[in-house]
Amino acid sequence: MSVQPETFGFQAEISQLLDLIINTFYSNKEIFLRELISNASDALDKIRYQALTDPSQLDSEKELYIRIIPNKEEGTLSIIDTGIGMTKADLVNNLGTIAKSGTKGFMEALSSGADISMIGQFGVGFYSSYLVAERVQVTTKHNDDEQYIWESAAGGTFTITEDLNGPRLGRGTAIKLFLKDDLKEYLEEKRIREIVKKHSEFISYPIQLVVTKEVEKEVEEDEEEAKDGSKIEEVEDEDSGKEKKKNKKMVKQTETSNEELNKQKPIWTRNPSDVTQEEYASFYKSISNDWEDHLAVKHFSVEGQLEFKAMLFIPKRAPFDLFENKKKRGGAFKLYVRRVFITEDSEELMPEYLNFVVGIVDSEDLPLNISRETLQQNKILRVIRKSLVKKALELIQEIAEDKENFDKFYSAFSKNLKLGIHEDAANRSKIAEFLRFHSTKSVDEQTSFKDYITRMPEVQKSIYYLTGESLEAVKDSPFLEVLKKKGFEVLLLVDPIDEYAVTQLKEFDGKSLVCVSKEGLELEETEEEKKARETEAKEFESLCSAIKENLGDKVEKVVVSNRISDSPCVLVTGQFGWSSNMERIMKAQALRDSSMSTYMASKKTMELNPHHPIIKELKNRISEDKSDKTVRDLTLLLFETALLTSGFTLTAPQDFAQRINRMIALGLSIDSEPEAEPISAAGADETVIEEVGGSMEEVD
Ligand code: ADP
Ligand code: MG
Repeated sequence: MSVQPETFGFQAEISQLLDLIINTFYSNKEIFLRELISNASDALDKIRYQALTDPSQLDSEKELYIRIIPNKEEGTLSIIDTGIGMTKADLVNNLGTIAKSGTKGFMEALSSGADISMIGQFGVGFYSSYLVAERVQVTTKHNDDEQYIWESAAGGTFTITEDLNGPRLGRGTAIKLFLKDDLKEYLEEKRIREIVKKHSEFISYPIQLVVTKEVEKEVEEDEEEAKDGSKIEEVEDEDSGKEKKKNKKMVKQTETSNEELNKQKPIWTRNPSDVTQEEYASFYKSISNDWEDHLAVKHFSVEGQLEFKAMLFIPKRAPFDLFENKKKRGGAFKLYVRRVFITEDSEELMPEYLNFVVGIVDSEDLPLNISRETLQQNKILRVIRKSLVKKALELIQEIAEDKENFDKFYSAFSKNLKLGIHEDAANRSKIAEFLRFHSTKSVDEQTSFKDYITRMPEVQKSIYYLTGESLEAVKDSPFLEVLKKKGFEVLLLVDPIDEYAVTQLKEFDGKSLVCVSKEGLELEETEEEKKARETEAKEFESLCSAIKENLGDKVEKVVVSNRISDSPCVLVTGQFGWSSNMERIMKAQALRDSSMSTYMASKKTMELNPHHPIIKELKNRISEDKSDKTVRDLTLLLFETALLTSGFTLTAPQDFAQRINRMIALGLSIDSEPEAEPISAAGADETVIEEVGGSMEEVD
C-alpha cells in the first residue's frame, strides 16, 4: 500500500531564509550538527518530562539516546533521537508553515553582519541542515500519531507522507541529510567525533556514533553466499591452509557498533578547580545557544540542610528577544534532580528580572517525580531560588569590580536591574548599587549612587534627580538652574523605566531620592535665603493671583520659585502625581483608561522667577493696573513655553504657533496682522517683546 505525498508551501520568510542559507558563502558549516543534536536533546527532555507524571509515555521506546549514522554508500548522514517525536500537525507547523519571530530577526542580523552560527539563538536552527544537505528527510513518530516523513529540497515547498513501509521508529525522530557532493567530509568518523566534542560535549543524553569496522572473521566456506549485505573478501593468508580445516577461511567483514561520544560526567558535578575556562565556555554555549563565550560564571555547591550544585552564567549580550514574550528562550535555566533533567521552565528558579542568567541547578533533595504544578509550591525549591538569586547578585558584584566588563554588562542588562528594583523588594538596596546614571556632573560617563554621594557638598541632604526624554532634553533644563549654582549634582534619568525604578526605590543609603521637577523642593536654604523668599512671595502675591486667574484650570496655583535663576517660570507637578516625563510616557503608551490618566495627570503649579526681567515687568504692570491686558495675553504664552521647557507636551501646538508668529510679526514691525486683536492691540511695550521674541531669535 502506498500513500500520496501531500505538498505544502513554506511560509514566505522561511523560504527566504532557506535561500539565504543555501546561497550565502559560509565556511563554518559544521554547526548544523550542533543544531540537530540540540533539537534531539530538547525532544528527549520533553518526553522525559512527560514521563515524570505519566511513565507509560516511555513504553513506545524505553531508552533515551541520540544516534548519528553516517552512510557513505548513500552519501547520507542521519541523526536519530528517541525523543518526543512530532505529530503530523507538528511537522506542518514547526518545520515550515509558521514563521517564528526569529526568522526575520535572524535575516536582519545576517544582513548587518551577524554570523550564521548564531542561528540557534533565533529559534530556526533546524534550517541549518541546508548548509550541508541538498535534501532533508525527517521521519518521525509521536505517541499520539502515526509515523510520517517530511521531506524537502528547499525551493519553496515540502511534502509530508505517512510512512507505512519504512523501518519503525517506536518513538522519536530521524533526520536524514542527503549531503552535497563536496561535503562528504561530514561522513568521516573522525570529523564527526571532532564536531561533537567541540559543540555538543555537554549534552546530557548519550550521543552514539555508529562506527563501522572491518574485522577478520573465520567463516564456513559455504556461509559466504548466505551472508547478505556485508562485504566479504577473501583473505590471502599463507598460514590458513595449514591450521584450519579446508571448509573454513578468514574473511574481512564490516561490523557496526555504537561508540558513545560524550562520556564525561556532568560538568557541574566536578570540582570547580578541575574545570577549565574552555570547558565552562563550551558548556555555556551548549545550554544557551549563544555563539560567544559567557561574560562571567559562578560554579558552586551548597551543603548542609539542603544540598545542591549550581552553575550560573551571565552572557555578554542580551538575546534579541529578551523581553519579547513571557516564554523563556531556549534552555536558559535547567533544573536537575540527582543528575536527571527535570525542566527548563525556570520561572520557579529565577525571577523574571534575572531571566538573562543562564545555568543549571542539580538538587539532591527534590523528589524525582516533581511536576510543574508541585514545583510552584515546593518549599525546597523556594530556598534554592533564594540562594540562586543571592549568588547571581554576587556574580554581578564581581563583574562590577572591572569597569570595562561592567559597562558591557550594564549596557545589555540595565533594564533588568531596574525591573529588579521593582520586583525584588528584598534585594532592592543591593540592586540599587548596580544602577548607573548620567548626571549634571557626569554627563558622559554614568555614575553610581555611591559615587554621587561622595561628591555631595556637606549641606546637601538628598539625592536629586530629573527625568526626561533624552540627555539633550534635560541637561539644560530650567529645573537645574539653582541646583547647579549651589553645586548640587542632579542625576539625569532618561530611560523610560528609570522613573518607575526610582519612585520604587525612594532612598539610597538613608538619603531620599528627590525629583527636582516636583513640588515642595527644599534646597537646604539658609535662613537668609528663606527670609528673602518670604519677602518675595509677599511682593509677588498680586501677580501670582492675577496669573492664576488668567490661566484658570490650567494650573493648580502660582507661586514664587526657589529653583530657577535664568528662566522666567517653570511648571512643577505634585509630589505624588506623575512628573511631566511620566505624563509624556503615559500619553505615548496611549493609555486606554482615560479615567486613570485624568486622575493621575499632573496637577501643575506655576513657579515664577522673581528676579527675571519679564516677571518683574509683569509685576509692575499689575501694580499699576490690576486688569492689564498685556499681562493677560502674555501669561498664556509664558505658560505654554514653560510647558515645553518643563518637559510636557502641548495639547494645541497650532495655537501656540499662532501666538509666536504674531510676536515675530510684531518684532519685524509687520502691520498686516490678519487678526489684529490680542497682543499687538495691547500696545505691548518694546522691552517685553524683545525678551520673549528675542530669546527665539537669539538676540540679547
Ligand atoms: P528551536 O529548536 O529553537 O525551536 P529549530 O528550528 O531548531 O528551532 O526547531 C524547530 C522546531 O522543530 C522545534 O521547536 C521542535 O518543535 C521541532 N523539532 C525539530 N527537531 C526535532 C526533533 N528532533 N524532535 C522533535 N521535534 C523537533
Ligand atoms: Mg533548535
